[in-house]
Amino acid sequence: MPNLDIQKIRKDFPILNQQVYNKPLVYFDNGATTQKPLCVINEEIKIYSHENSNIHRGVHYLSEQLTQRYEDARKVVQKFIKASYDHEVIFTSGTTESINTIAFSFGEKYVNEGDEIIISTLEHHANIVPWQMLCERKKAILKVIPINEKGELLLDEYKKLISPKTKIVAVNQVSNALGTVNDVKTMIDIAHQTNIPVLIDGAQSVQHGKIDVQELDCDFYVFSGHKVYGPNGIGVLYGKEKWLNEMPPFMTGGEMIKKVTFGKTTFNELPFKFEAGTPNYVSAIGLATAIYYIQQLGLENIASYEKELLDYGTKKLQSIDGLKVIGTSENKVSVISFILENIHHFDAGMVIDKMGIAVRTGHHCAEPLMDRLNVEGTIRASFSFYNTKEEIDKLYEAILTVKQMFG
Ligand code: PLP
Repeated sequence: MPNLDIQKIRKDFPILNQQVYNKPLVYFDNGATTQKPLCVINEEIKIYSHENSNIHRGVHYLSEQLTQRYEDARKVVQKFIKASYDHEVIFTSGTTESINTIAFSFGEKYVNEGDEIIISTLEHHANIVPWQMLCERKKAILKVIPINEKGELLLDEYKKLISPKTKIVAVNQVSNALGTVNDVKTMIDIAHQTNIPVLIDGAQSVQHGKIDVQELDCDFYVFSGHKVYGPNGIGVLYGKEKWLNEMPPFMTGGEMIKKVTFGKTTFNELPFKFEAGTPNYVSAIGLATAIYYIQQLGLENIASYEKELLDYGTKKLQSIDGLKVIGTSENKVSVISFILENIHHFDAGMVIDKMGIAVRTGHHCAEPLMDRLNVEGTIRASFSFYNTKEEIDKLYEAILTVKQMFG
């Protein structure tokens, strides 16, 4: 039995308690975005109703109060990922902005013609395109770690890709399309043998278990608030102090400056150097509330219940004739990506939707991975701690219906 009271937890998520197409909603698109608990929703209402004011600028009561709450939210994130200092936590709009910031800012300073950047076959487009663009700007070379048939990175091949020209390694900790958990600790250790910094895309990992950036010793770690039960439009860029101090700012404007004259501008200290303009302070505080919420549930409890769902779902779905699970690593989070023999994933997705079940179909913003796996796309069910085995049974029944209709 799980250590979580799932029925009680579900009451915290009002969106789950509704019908679509006259069927109870089953939400299995948690990899795309997670739903928000009432405490997060109410926090935002409270701020806009009683506390709103631009931060860091005013000397008046509301501004000072909210500035404090924003900076407290930064400390919550710091503790959540176990960063050494709160100024190593930069608020961004999400993983995409965090990676673009690093690719631009780190790239500006350290990447030159002929240098190499290593990413992996498992990456989301957000961790491919910014590096590709950097390579075009700087005439650098993008190298890609290959995978095996199970959807696991080949670490021996990774070692071979590292060269004296390598400037940075950027990989995800968990693949959004397959759910594979990568051994990023080993990858970081390997890169650090020759002092190469490593960026970890944690967009699909922070919501599934404990993260300790000091233990990992990663140089950068990024994630999105909306995938960890927090609000949209907020994300985190963690960077080791020494890198963030050395890197030039990406966006410029208000707040990130110390002194501006028409002749010259000097930049503010960390973390403000990387937070140009009015930050999304409401969502930053909402993110801190979401973090409190999942910490109260317990990240170990979440991980173990989601593993239960993954094992149950995998066994159940694999029993369906003609269903092939794509991504079969033993080390996965609660994501099942699959295809159905002779049935297009869009057709399947549409029928499953009509049963009230939200799954994702397509390439999952990982087109190069789909090419490598020789599939056009997959159907992806991604489970959260608020999902149940009964809901997985409904997905199973829906797939049988799809097979009857198209098989
Ligand atoms: N990286 C991974 C692994 C993802 O799964 C996603 C989103 O699905 C992103 C990056 C981009 O996140 P966002 O759209 O929140 O910026």
